[in-house]
Amino acid sequence: MIYKPEKYAIKDERIKPFIDADEIWNFINKTPSTKQRVREIIQASLDKKRLSLEETAVLLNAEDPDLIEEIKEGARTLKEKVYGERIVLFAPLYVGDLCTNNCQYCGFRSENKGIKRITLNEQQLIEETTALIDQGHKRLILVYGEHPKYTADFIAETVKIVYTVKHNHGEIRRVNINAAPFDIPGFRTIKDSGIGTFQVFQETYHRPTYASVHLGGVKRNYDWRLTSLDRAQEAGIDDVGIGALFGLYDWRFEVLSLVRHVNHFEAVYNVGPHTISFPRIQNAMSLNINKKYLVNDEEFVRLVSILRLAVPYTGMILTAREPIHIRNQVLRFGVSQIDGGTNLELGGYSKGKKQTQDLSMEQFQINDNRSLNEIMDELIKTGYIPSFCTACYRLGRTGEHFMEFSVPGFIKRFCSPNALLTLAEYLEDYAPEDTKKEGYQLINNKISELASHQNVDKLKEKVGEIKAGKRDLYF
Ligand code: SAM
Ligand code: SF4
Repeated sequence: MIYKPEKYAIKDERIKPFIDADEIWNFINKTPSTKQRVREIIQASLDKKRLSLEETAVLLNAEDPDLIEEIKEGARTLKEKVYGERIVLFAPLYVGDLCTNNCQYCGFRSENKGIKRITLNEQQLIEETTALIDQGHKRLILVYGEHPKYTADFIAETVKIVYTVKHNHGEIRRVNINAAPFDIPGFRTIKDSGIGTFQVFQETYHRPTYASVHLGGVKRNYDWRLTSLDRAQEAGIDDVGIGALFGLYDWRFEVLSLVRHVNHFEAVYNVGPHTISFPRIQNAMSLNINKKYLVNDEEFVRLVSILRLAVPYTGMILTAREPIHIRNQVLRFGVSQIDGGTNLELGGYSKGKKQTQDLSMEQFQINDNRSLNEIMDELIKTGYIPSFCTACYRLGRTGEHFMEFSVPGFIKRFCSPNALLTLAEYLEDYAPEDTKKEGYQLINNKISELASHQNVDKLKEKVGEIKAGKRDLYF
């Protein structure tokens, strides 16, 4: 496909690029970090205030190990205080890896001739969805390369197919998207197919770095990508997900730019993005990047904690790119959603679990290939409540994370009971006996903790109904 820049000029006057690199660097270079300021800022976040760029820069500049521990501790307290123990589970489903872009970090890039190019047909998509339903999944993110074949109509069609699949007791109840940006009519077509969140990661907010790693195709256009989720909003997609690919440029710059992106959304649309993703670059076939900016584990944990404090009401997504020990660590610092049973191979779920990856059919290397049940089991044993809840989306309550955060009692009234109900469904339909036993113990403990709450009798009733065979119950 020939990239015609004029086709991707931003025509809507209301939509403007909003990242100023000098401004971001000024905040990083000129904001001192004192013990007292760091503590005040942690407290402001615990008081449910979204942090300014200057305040975030203070946290980014904290180098004293004790202060860094305090930041992590602050993030942990915020997570416990606001969100409790729920962790939402989802799975990525790769629909097609055709791609006309040439992103130097990605196995799907057009120059990589070693990769097998596959687009799932309807039957294969149904088989993949069925395999995911049979694991116990209810929430998927569909992923696509960028290619003329993957039009808005094509994507909308694949979403509709996924929603039609029913198997035994299960079905997919929320489909999110990670695909190339569209124009406003394109986003509208996709929205009408019933999607939840549309994710577009800026990869790097630093323009010269962006230019150096995006060497072909439409994705070379930084501004088209930067403003993509504004177009999604204009098209009526209320839940959008932003992200940066950590390892391309200085991590502090990317964190502050993500916060700037959030500010922009709040200023223009009065609501922040639904989720933030912070993938770290992993090995991939024909990976071709400068290793100077790779983010080490210590920095990664720090950046997750700082993001948690800076944008306290945004959902945070952590994927199987990260190894188990890092996943377990950062879960405590504010992550709200993780994937489970992940398989990036095109058509891979219906083939069953595999021990090693074949990078000629996958975008990048993952480091956690546990099954969904292994992850459920561990979450339950560590006291988390795994959740497949989709109630807000189904009831038209968009911006669920914001409501969890800002509406007093929302979590106790809706989120926790719904998490327990979806856990009970999972235990009935998919869990082996030992997970089932532990899971019901957790449910009973949590019901006792909610004892004085108005919904608790109804909750007990609904758990009973699920045991008796009813499904899809929520508040
Ligand atoms: N083609 C669409 C696009 O570029 O927006 C869909 C995105 S891609 C399939 C999903 C995301 O994976 C990218 O936005 C990028 O952040 C991430 N990614 C690509 N290569 C990666 C790698 N080697 N390691 C980790 N994440 C990677
Ligand atoms: Fe294509 Fe997306 Fe990979 Fe870039 S990141 S090569 S656009 S699939």
